[in-house]
Amino acid sequence: FVSTVSHELRTPLTIVQGYLRRTIKRSKGLTADERQGLQTAEEESIRMRMLLDDLLDLSRGDSGQLQLNQEVVDLGPLVEKVADLSQSNLTDRRLEVLNNIPIHENSEALADPGRLQQVLLDLIDNAAKYSAQGSLITLLLHPHTDGIAIDVKDEGIGIPDSDLAHIFKRFHRAKNSSGSSGSGLGLSVVALLMSAMGGEVRVQSKEGEGSCFSVILPKPPMTSSAKS
Ligand code: ADP
Repeated sequence: FVSTVSHELRTPLTIVQGYLRRTIKRSKGLTADERQGLQTAEEESIRMRMLLDDLLDLSRGDSGQLQLNQEVVDLGPLVEKVADLSQSNLTDRRLEVLNNIPIHENSEALADPGRLQQVLLDLIDNAAKYSAQGSLITLLLHPHTDGIAIDVKDEGIGIPDSDLAHIFKRFHRAKNSSGSSGSGLGLSVVALLMSAMGGEVRVQSKEGEGSCFSVILPKPPMTSSAKS
């Protein structure tokens, strides 16, 4: 039911979004107030669409119908691309990318590149949402005992100890998050996707200091030529 309803709602919403975008771009005589109103409507329609996408993913996960395209992915270029995509939404945050993979090692992992990008964009969105203007968000690629990891680190509000164990549960929002809007679904989708890719997501956080979400992915199996 959830899957069908989410799917049916997406189409009209996409049309609404398209008309809003077109009106904002093409209308010459809009007052500042009207433009602002249309922009708010567009932002809210984007938020609604993201919520529907999350619901669709969760219901697919529940019914075992989540389909992934697992392949060998070079994480170095993927992280750079995600940073580029995020930059336009992060006008008032600083974003840095660090690569700690030793020079003689490659940065390949087994993953679905589209879904991994979705996970990282979601974590960066959260990092920005829960931190102050001008603060730093760091993407760090590094080797990990279980494969290879990408950290998304922020200097934001952090997560209270009492919420940390529940943060990946559906609809759970930490008690210090009431200043920002949200559904509490994003991280449960992140956890679902990471586990479907054979990896996992972990978090370390201190209230008032910041958070670090680490996504860990398995290395691709060694080919016979690589082994020899
Ligand atoms: P939401 O839509 O509420 O952001 P999420 O599932 O993405 O939903 O996150 C769940 C909760 O985890 C958030 O409501 C917030 O309390 C907390 N959270 C997630 N990311 C961060 C972060 N980078 N810094 C502080 N709190 C965070």
